[in-house]
Amino acid sequence: MRDSSGIEHSATKAVWAGEEYYLVEGATQVPIVQSIPFGYDDLDEWMGVALGDRKGHIYSRNTNPTTRAFEEKVKALEGADDSTSFSTGMAAVSNTLSAFLRPGDRVVSVKDTYGGTNKIFLEFLPRAGVEVELCDTTDPDAIEEEVARGCEVLYLETPTNPTLKLVDIARLSEAGREAGAVVVVDGTFATPINQSPLALGADLVLHSASKYLGGHADALGGILCGPSELVRRVYHYREINGAALDPFAAYLLLRGLKTLELRVARHNENAMKVARFLEEHPAVERVFYPGLESHPQHELAKKQMRGFGGMVSFSLVGGYEVVKAFLPRLQIAHRAANLGAVETTVGPPATTSHVESSAPEREAMGIPESLVRYSAGIEHADDLISDLDNALSATRTGTPDASG
Ligand code: PLP
Repeated sequence: MRDSSGIEHSATKAVWAGEEYYLVEGATQVPIVQSIPFGYDDLDEWMGVALGDRKGHIYSRNTNPTTRAFEEKVKALEGADDSTSFSTGMAAVSNTLSAFLRPGDRVVSVKDTYGGTNKIFLEFLPRAGVEVELCDTTDPDAIEEEVARGCEVLYLETPTNPTLKLVDIARLSEAGREAGAVVVVDGTFATPINQSPLALGADLVLHSASKYLGGHADALGGILCGPSELVRRVYHYREINGAALDPFAAYLLLRGLKTLELRVARHNENAMKVARFLEEHPAVERVFYPGLESHPQHELAKKQMRGFGGMVSFSLVGGYEVVKAFLPRLQIAHRAANLGAVETTVGPPATTSHVESSAPEREAMGIPESLVRYSAGIEHADDLISDLDNALSATRTGTPDASG
């Protein structure tokens, strides 16, 4: 059997890691094992697998060969000891929080988390008797202060969706460790190619695999990586809670992962070119991209990221009415609530990342109604830029859009 454990580079891990045990009868691709149960003639062997003393599978809500191969590939990319998968990114977020929090506990996080995560903090956890403290995302002193007051979980997201703010993973992980909290980082926007939260000191890193990891907008999934003792606790919760990744989705995610390094390199390059173009455009009020020197946390971005990612947000002069006039004029980007795919997608937070939030909630999170969230795909940057340029110019002059 091949051994991928010595592979050093992410590009090679993305192609090879985690698969070898699951390749059967000379197949070069991991099969979709579309079976709920796994049978045993020998009761001792069955018991050994059930108790986790032997390798194998019992029931696909718990583990499955195709989902396990996906978990092992992401684990290798994150440099983690262990990993477990979920039906969606939100299942990764909610199961992780639920596994570590009890009534009376306290969680510290930031105001700028993804809309669904923010709903868990504002609505579901308080209802379950958990105290939630949401801090100003860019004020590490305030976050440290709240963590020092005591908490069971410190939950971070960086870069944030949709305003691309950063939190200092190394500094806050240290604060979390001192307080005895489990430090969780949602690294969906960065991917394991651009950022390694575990190496920076976080306890756990999670991703919506539906985004860059799969990369083709055709499979939902989530993943959590970290030390075995913590991952097993979340696995146990998820196994009973039932939010298992489907083997067919795992297969699609595995196939997408093979090109992760290539895709992310192009996403990084395109987003940087688009951000530089937008920064110079008179119709654009402000550009949010960690790779720009004008980003208030550009130094932190250089310190903790190897690439600045494919997400660019920008606000337009004139507010939401101008956004409404501008978006239909784009000919390449899909106007859709997704990100991280090979195709460029675009939309305002009100219908994408923060559709669950009310206008006042978005306001409280510092999300302008004039904001456009742009997920740069892997098309040629010149085409993306001329599409933006045409749509911005037509919006300024009031030229009718293509749909009339
Ligand atoms: N975390 C972040 C940063 C996201 O952007 C999203 C979705 O957009 C999620 C989590 C939730 O992922 P999913 O849609 O796979 O449930």
